Amino acid sequence: MLEAAATLYTPAMLDIRAIRQQFPILSREVNGQPLVYLDSAASSQKPLAVIEGQREYLAHHHANIHRSAHHLAARATRDFEGAREKIGLHLGAAHSKEIIFTSGTTDAINLVAQTWGRVNLDAGDVVLVPRDAHHAALVPWQMIAENCDAIVEPIEIELQGERAGQIDRAAFTRQLQDLKPKLVVLGHVSNALGTIHPVEELCLEARNAGATTLVDGAQALPHLPIDVQKIGCDFYAVSAHKAYGPTGIGALYGRADVLDAMPPWRGGGEMIKSVSFEGTTFGELPFKFEAGTPHISGAIGFGLALDWLNKIGLQNAQTHEEALTSRATKQLLQIDGLRILGPATGTQKASVISFVIQPENAPAIHPADLATLLDNQGIAARTGHHCTEPLMAALGLAETGGTIRISFAVYNSFEEVDRAIEALKRAVNMLL
Ligand code: PLP
Repeated sequence: MLEAAATLYTPAMLDIRAIRQQFPILSREVNGQPLVYLDSAASSQKPLAVIEGQREYLAHHHANIHRSAHHLAARATRDFEGAREKIGLHLGAAHSKEIIFTSGTTDAINLVAQTWGRVNLDAGDVVLVPRDAHHAALVPWQMIAENCDAIVEPIEIELQGERAGQIDRAAFTRQLQDLKPKLVVLGHVSNALGTIHPVEELCLEARNAGATTLVDGAQALPHLPIDVQKIGCDFYAVSAHKAYGPTGIGALYGRADVLDAMPPWRGGGEMIKSVSFEGTTFGELPFKFEAGTPHISGAIGFGLALDWLNKIGLQNAQTHEEALTSRATKQLLQIDGLRILGPATGTQKASVISFVIQPENAPAIHPADLATLLDNQGIAARTGHHCTEPLMAALGLAETGGTIRISFAVYNSFEEVDRAIEALKRAVNMLL
């Protein structure tokens, strides 16, 4: 039996009601019902600390950075560089110059593909990318591989059994030995299944086989402590909007010696040392990768989001999110024909639940139909292939609309879990 939701708050650690009050959007209605936002893996909502912090900057302190000596420019530069420091600290970088501002994870991975990839990949070189990778971690490598005749191969994911959603370790080890990849791309947390991959072990194995490593950390940032030096990766990519920050801003961590050896990508102001028609020399790290005026308010908002998250405490957030996930999982598994994809529960999973429903003696319910009926009841869930078409194809779900995915953030409550499950049951009944 599940306990009554009201008794499940965990005041010793977190006051979820107080946290929710910091997110104005959570008190709005959708389709005449109180919003239940269960799509934080696509993009999290923003606390007042971030909304007001960006507003404060834009209303009172904006100027362009790194160029002028006046008061506002100096302050904006200080705040922008302060955000870089915070991100560097949060990711465990050795130095803030190893943090390159990008527009997000996608942009960060494209940067690596277009700079490191362009000079390091030759015909026949192998890039390994997990089958559950987000398209952002796959497509940039396919594009660069097409230019230089490199080969992009999948790292296989176990599809069934206790290790469902996890990397097939024996096959990975064999690939490292047989294919000697130049680059191994890894995902820290799967956005489609919620699997937390053991990136520290995987990077060590890849490094020992001579590969450069890139970790897509988009889904790890809001949920897990990250230490890029401990992980031992060469690159780590994140987006602020997944972790309570603004859209349009993210970061690439690159180890200084690796970044130093890479050519710049985009050319323009800010990234140069000197320019003449005879030739241009480029700036130092991190500026050589940051051409043009950046998203200054976004970077500041990113720093504020990390401050906010650290004030809540990642461990506290994780404990609460695990409780939400476990409560939802128990209730979901009571629904006839519901099948959770990937790891069902346990420590190797972030707060993402992906499922399909095929009741006995009935055709499978299309995820998009379910999502529409949920939306009518104020529940925001995501359906489709979650930008992981190769994984959905391997799971046999490419032609049937993928999965329905609910994902939790620290602001979700147990009442919301219960409301969503009741709404789901109503939707299923309507579709049968
Ligand atoms: N990688 C993963 C695992 C993601 O979940 C996402 C976004 O859904 C991305 C990369 C791309 O992030 P962005 O769209 O912020 O660049």
